[in-house]
Amino acid sequence: MACQEIEEEFIVTEKANHSVLWYNDIGISVYLTLINEWKGDWMSVETLKWSSLPYTEEQIADEAARLHSRLNVIGWSPIECALIAPLTFEINQLKQKLNAVVLAHSYQTPDIIYGIADHVGDSLGLSQEAASTSADVVVFCGVKFMAETAKILSPQKTVLLPDDRAGCSLAASITAEDVRALKRRYPGVLVVCYVNTYADVKAESDACCTSANALAVVDDMPGDRVIFLPDALMAANLAPLTKKEIISWHGTCVVHENFGSAELEAFRGQYPDAKVLAHTECVPEVVAQADMAGSTSGMERYIAEHDEAKTFMLVTECGMTDKLKVQFPDRDFIGTCVLCPFMKKIELRNVLSAMKDPDVSQVIELPEDVIRRGRVALDRMLSVGRAERVK
Ligand code: SF4
Repeated sequence: MACQEIEEEFIVTEKANHSVLWYNDIGISVYLTLINEWKGDWMSVETLKWSSLPYTEEQIADEAARLHSRLNVIGWSPIECALIAPLTFEINQLKQKLNAVVLAHSYQTPDIIYGIADHVGDSLGLSQEAASTSADVVVFCGVKFMAETAKILSPQKTVLLPDDRAGCSLAASITAEDVRALKRRYPGVLVVCYVNTYADVKAESDACCTSANALAVVDDMPGDRVIFLPDALMAANLAPLTKKEIISWHGTCVVHENFGSAELEAFRGQYPDAKVLAHTECVPEVVAQADMAGSTSGMERYIAEHDEAKTFMLVTECGMTDKLKVQFPDRDFIGTCVLCPFMKKIELRNVLSAMKDPDVSQVIELPEDVIRRGRVALDRMLSVGRAERVK
């Protein structure tokens, strides 16, 4: 269909990430106009003809259909899938061209998880992928400490983080100098850092862990006492499970610290048969009331192993809910509305820009000595592997 015919009747849909699709009322695979930056002014729209785009109309229609086959379970319409299809198509093409792999955390949005990700998982699973991948480029759809972890594990690879504002309240709560001060204060006590720390903090630590093996790593450390940082709530959840005395730090996750036992009790009253799954970054009262407490991958395993349960409440970042709805379409999920503002900095548009023409802020670089010393702590985490004691 000629562009002129289509322009006679169109609807404009605007998405939060400023990508705009114009389509007529016939359907999705007719005509797309992308603009680089939506300025709220029709005159700013740069009209691109199909011939000038790096894909054909048919390719985008196929890509939209592929996306819709995954995302319709969570209510994405064909139009919404067509809206993102040019981006996912181009990113997937670039992956082949660059020999790149896209690693996405489970808290990412469904367009990333089901549109472009090669591997989706928790911090441990993604670290294992980063250590073993044969790709030349690792595109991290997660937060900065995860991308840094990938760089430590695969220093010869190019590691891209699409938006360097993708931080973490836990990682930001502690510096390398803070760790050195703790070691001076508690001489001889070994340091276990949660993976949610920046590379220089890992370099000061004796071992690293994730929520999937925190207890096993702590138990594995020599001595009666362990400095566990930076998550005060995870430390409080570990304390009754280990014989070690835990010296903790005061960091918290801005997502998980929001959940309280009162909400859980109210939920239990409303859905008495539902299973409550809580992350171990929550307060101990919430963890105590949950049917299962652990990592996001532990939650997935629990759901897969509990066929008898129909409804689950997820006490974690709300991105998990959409992911699991697609994964387990025969179950019902009640999620929370708490978003991680850092995880949501990653969007298809900045993934594409990082892969096409990365600026310095999108490329992870670390000093050699930080990589070398951080690797020691991470190797300990990887050697313990997944050792989750699911409640
Ligand atoms: S959910 Fe919490 S722990 Fe995870 S990245 Fe966001 S702030 Fe950090």
